[in-house]
Amino acid sequence: MGPLRRRAVLAGGAGLVASAVAAPLVSAPGESAAYDRPGPMYEAVERQPAETLAVGEAHIRVVFADGAPGLDRARTIRWIRGAAAALTRYFGRFPVANYALLVIATDGNRVGHATTFGFRGSATRITVGRETDEGFARDWVLVHEMLHAALPDLPRRALWLQEGNATWIEPVARVQAGQLPAAEMWRQALLGMARGQPAANDSGMDGTKAWNRLYWGGATFWLLAEIAIHQASNGRAALRDAMRAINRASGGNTADWSPERMMAAGDPATGTASLLPLYRRFADEPYERIYSRCSAALEFSSTSRARSASTSARRWPRCGGRLRVPAPEAHSGRCACRWPGRSHRASRGASSAL
Ligand SMILES: [Zn+2]
Repeated sequence: MGPLRRRAVLAGGAGLVASAVAAPLVSAPGESAAYDRPGPMYEAVERQPAETLAVGEAHIRVVFADGAPGLDRARTIRWIRGAAAALTRYFGRFPVANYALLVIATDGNRVGHATTFGFRGSATRITVGRETDEGFARDWVLVHEMLHAALPDLPRRALWLQEGNATWIEPVARVQAGQLPAAEMWRQALLGMARGQPAANDSGMDGTKAWNRLYWGGATFWLLAEIAIHQASNGRAALRDAMRAINRASGGNTADWSPERMMAAGDPATGTASLLPLYRRFADEPYERIYSRCSAALEFSSTSRARSASTSARRWPRCGGRLRVPAPEAHSGRCACRWPGRSHRASRGASSAL
């Protein structure tokens, strides 16, 4: 939506846990559609009664749209605080100083559609089923949306970077916050990233509109960025360092940046030159060629919690290697990876989190 900087994630369609959101919620006519457009959405978050949550120095303004009749507010607030906690842990603080959340009650028992805007401040509209209980614990959508709010807006051609970023980091942040088993995160990543690989005629990622490539192809970029940073820094830095720097420099999604600026802001924080060259290659090259050079095998032997993850390792199509993976922040072990075209072995301690 151009200058309105619309971000969307559709229930049942986006993110890592498609299976966790089996079907879109069915809303009563007019129930949520009234806030589909940014104007009414911003009016609602600015004018309707709000509950303000303090998260460190930041504030989340929660508005239950039209009172959200039938929705359990205490449960909903706990869920919002949980998502905010995952973001806070990942970024070192809640990444947006002032963030608004419009919660729209619908039928059903799960979290549904959400859209994040950076027009008149960072704001997300999200639909929540009135019967939601377990669905809050399984939800990934709100963390995904908050991640969109954390990073600068990019031009449409780079939507894959934004969706891929949220798709990759959302489960990492939840694992690190103790909200998702690492084995489940990797299981989903392996399944999803296989779907995000390019077709024979695909070219570079910039401008791609194919759903799987936007989300899972983009997520693959960020995983490879993790690996590149880990390699180049000998395990001293992680993508999280770059994400924090980008967040601090931009202030979040009310800023308009280019992808090049974003990568250039992230690299110094890791003491490496990992992001910018990798971005340029993904943006322009047929990325099948990148895969054909990739013999990425990640092998982490790790603590007992992560050991179960390694049992789900499988061949990574076209990548010639196995993704055998750890619980971020919960392992100490060995990383053996070769990407792209150079070997690397490093000891990896518990402090070198993804
Ligand atoms: Zn998204």
